[in-house]
Amino acid sequence: MIALAGLITHSSTAAPGDAVNLYSYRQPFLMKPLLDAFTKETRVKVNMVYLKKGMLERLKAEGANSPADLVLTADIGNIQNLVAAGLLQSSSSSKINRNVPAQFRHPQGLWYGLTTRARIIFAHKDRVKPGEVTTYEDLAKPHMKGRICTRSGKHVYNVSLLAWMIAAKGEAAGEAWARGLKANLARKPQGNDRAQVKAVFQGECDVAVGNTYYMGKMMTNKKNPEQKNWAAAVNLIFPNQKDRGTHVNISGAGITKSAKNKAGAIRLIEFLTGDAAQKIYAEDNFEYPIKVGAKLHPIVAGWGKFKADETFLFKIAEHRITATRIMDKVRFNN
Ligand code: FE
Repeated sequence: MIALAGLITHSSTAAPGDAVNLYSYRQPFLMKPLLDAFTKETRVKVNMVYLKKGMLERLKAEGANSPADLVLTADIGNIQNLVAAGLLQSSSSSKINRNVPAQFRHPQGLWYGLTTRARIIFAHKDRVKPGEVTTYEDLAKPHMKGRICTRSGKHVYNVSLLAWMIAAKGEAAGEAWARGLKANLARKPQGNDRAQVKAVFQGECDVAVGNTYYMGKMMTNKKNPEQKNWAAAVNLIFPNQKDRGTHVNISGAGITKSAKNKAGAIRLIEFLTGDAAQKIYAEDNFEYPIKVGAKLHPIVAGWGKFKADETFLFKIAEHRITATRIMDKVRFNN
């Protein structure tokens, strides 16, 4: 174990544990209150390095000498890329397994979900009639021609969505769906999820695909209040309520193969999936808690209950390479 100088909390009376070193794609505004609460409860300090990109490359380059014990990232795609590169190790904790439904963790404990989000449809309030779009399959049908906006087909969120479609209906159906969706796009894929809702607001398209929490971020945006108008222009549609349910993904954590403080990393995941942390996540980022029964943000609760698909995420991840290949084959971004 590393015991670095300067990492010991000043107020401790008992000897604190070694610090946990964290690489995070999740932003400081979200993580700081969570990590402060963890340190307060356990006296274990956390050093967080916030990364905008390049986590995989950095971990690879650092190899066994990497200081990172734990990584935090969003979407099964980003986590699975670390798994595929052999950068994560398995772990087990009955506490985590109680907190995190089996659907949202790796069977050998290579990663664990911390929060969930649904990838849903944002539909213009007037231009999309009730019942016109109720499923992901509808997005690929002829009546939606020229009416849909989405970000890049190669972005992890859309690759995961297609991988999920393949897991549910097979490769041929997945390809047909991607082709149909591509044929219905109003413009070349571009921008992030929120930019698609903006395009709906501006009349470029009628329907956008995006993750649920962005609705909360737009509805409450103080820095860019015009986003409130984008949000006000759309209804949220949770697709496939009458059959398999809506696609749900995670933000998650994994313990690095190089971890010097595996015990501390496990303890941090136990904390982040526990009641206190789940409450902070829900309050600060409009995501759904991973822990069954944890309370939702009132705005999120206002979107109503929905039926989530129950496919195990590690099963969806198995189709990501095929999904990426299909996105190329149908020239989704061209
Ligand atoms: Fe996101």
